Amino acid sequence: MQHLPPTARLLAVSKGHSAEAVREVASLGQLAFGESRLQEAVPKQLQLEDLPLQWHYIGRLQSNKVRGVVRAFSIIHSIDSLALAERVSRIAAEEGCSPDVLLQVKLRPDPAKGGFTEELLLEVWPQLVSLPSMQIQGLMTMAPQALEATERLCLFQECSALAERLGLPERSMGMSGDWREAVEAGSTWLRLGSALFGPRSAVTDG
Ligand SMILES: *Cc1c(COP(=O)(O)O)cnc(C)c1O
Repeated sequence: MQHLPPTARLLAVSKGHSAEAVREVASLGQLAFGESRLQEAVPKQLQLEDLPLQWHYIGRLQSNKVRGVVRAFSIIHSIDSLALAERVSRIAAEEGCSPDVLLQVKLRPDPAKGGFTEELLLEVWPQLVSLPSMQIQGLMTMAPQALEATERLCLFQECSALAERLGLPERSMGMSGDWREAVEAGSTWLRLGSALFGPRSAVTDG
């Protein structure tokens, strides 16, 4: 992937892979890792405490996991409702931290995925930006599996345009199957799991 533009950074999605596998990838210079389940991530993080890794939470975030996630992760990509954002803000304040967050948007109907529609995001935006103890850095999106490459490109471009309109620098877009279109549309975080680590053992995406 030598031809990636410098703004497209790699988030190595290590869910379903061992601490040893993470260590191996980290030895190549990769420091940003993504996990989607708290229970899986915490023991792994403990085994890797000697490394200066940056942990990103990318899974669906249940309200009872917010405190644990705020403690264990420096960036959350999957804030998918105003209620969740309010909870993260309140708990982060209690914990004395101020995590970076991305808002997950859903720009095409997809019953399998959460996220703000564009309309809803614009409606609640004033409330979101007024929340203390968290820094809204960007948008995250996932393309429905059935989309053709040109449709995925279109969707990612819409996500970039929306981030731009809101003045947000980060766009977390692209997975192993669609990172090329995401790069073309200006992704700043490519979330790559299987393309990097190979097939993973069963995990629920949370
Ligand atoms: C698992 C996961 C990924 C990585 O998926 P691959 O297809 O293995 O690259 C990226 N983003 C999210 C939100 C995930 O849950």
